[in-house]
Amino acid sequence: MSKGSDLRRRAGQVMPAGVYGHVSTRLLPDAYPQFMSRAEGAYVWDVDGNRYLDFMCAYGPNLLGYREPSVEAAVAAQLAIGDVMTGPSGIMVELCETLVAMIGHADWAMLCKNGTDATTLAMTVSRAHTGKRKILVAEGSYHGAAPWCTPFPAGVLPEDRAHIIKYIWNDTPSLEAAVREAGDDLAGIIASPIKHDAFVDQMLPDPAYARRARQICDQTGAMLIVDDVRAGFRLARDCSWSLVDVKPDLSAWGKCFANGQPISALLGSDKCREGAASVFATGSFWFGAAAMAAALATLRIVRESDYLEHSIALGEQLRAGLGDAAARHGFAIRQTGPVQMPQILFEGDADFRIGFGWAERMVKRGFYLHPWHNMFLCAAMTPADIDATIAAADAAFGELRRDMADLRPHAALLEILG
Ligand SMILES: *Cc1c(COP(=O)(O)O)cnc(C)c1O
Repeated sequence: MSKGSDLRRRAGQVMPAGVYGHVSTRLLPDAYPQFMSRAEGAYVWDVDGNRYLDFMCAYGPNLLGYREPSVEAAVAAQLAIGDVMTGPSGIMVELCETLVAMIGHADWAMLCKNGTDATTLAMTVSRAHTGKRKILVAEGSYHGAAPWCTPFPAGVLPEDRAHIIKYIWNDTPSLEAAVREAGDDLAGIIASPIKHDAFVDQMLPDPAYARRARQICDQTGAMLIVDDVRAGFRLARDCSWSLVDVKPDLSAWGKCFANGQPISALLGSDKCREGAASVFATGSFWFGAAAMAAALATLRIVRESDYLEHSIALGEQLRAGLGDAAARHGFAIRQTGPVQMPQILFEGDADFRIGFGWAERMVKRGFYLHPWHNMFLCAAMTPADIDATIAAADAAFGELRRDMADLRPHAALLEILG
């Protein structure tokens, strides 16, 4: 038995359903490795020694390449002198200063550990600041795994979501209807900067929708919250809605700003400083200095390198090459969202059997793609990596074309899709 299969079997005995959460391969083709042994630059290796060019980037945290040397050095230096201590390291202040200086709307920062900490804190701060209860959340958008926002309903009570009102992202009339429903009890509107929901095409924001959300919040005193946990620093060196020239009151950050070290942040404007100051927010590991050192090193590279332009150029190369390769074999693919955060879906593939078939043929060739979640390019990828991906994709499309009659939908995925 391979190491990966053995670990999977043992995991099933000591974890309730085996590996849980977003990294579970339960909703991926069977060929996907569940356990990894190491990562370097743009690559990961599974426990059986297979190498993959990694287009998931740890589902977001890997921005610059795994084990980026200057980030690694900053972490090692901090670990050598102290990480979780009885008080924060002074570099906490330096990191908050750095974030406030980089992010246009921000006057203050609170640091935490996971994106869910930051989005949940954003709601609490909005309610503390306004004294109101209702929060508008877009249907289908991901803001974390707490009861108020988890996409899977097991164990969640209606009461957990009693004051959440749903609206359709990027749809101004639906936003306005939700605002009317909230009446004079509107505490905040939370929005992803782009639509990056699972299973569907991505979408960029209509500037008019973003501006209308800003205007509603100005008129009602509600807080505008941008959830930049996934897209932050992947689209811009400022809040992602700087691209549509709209400044939120609060923004949530996580995933990549320490290049994989565990840290997240809630950034806010002076308008809600008092509300934020009144909230009791903390966690045993929130003040760890090693992740803060990693963030400072990562943000220096964000400011001083062309990591973003490089990722966009690679993304354009990939999008063009994959489009051509798919067409050569008679497949129509939809490549949506920013090129450096691609979502790739097949036309006429409601049950995802074609997408799964292609992804499986790519992972077997050493390219870790995802059939229904947006992917990420990292700055450690090279044009040669992208060329190799396109060549492998061409071969995988060809094989898929021959195997079309044998494709079957994935049972566990069908259950989720309903
Ligand atoms: C991942 C993610 C979160 C939650 O972050 P965690 O670190 O997993 O808690 C929140 N919002 C968005 C947009 C995300 O992609």
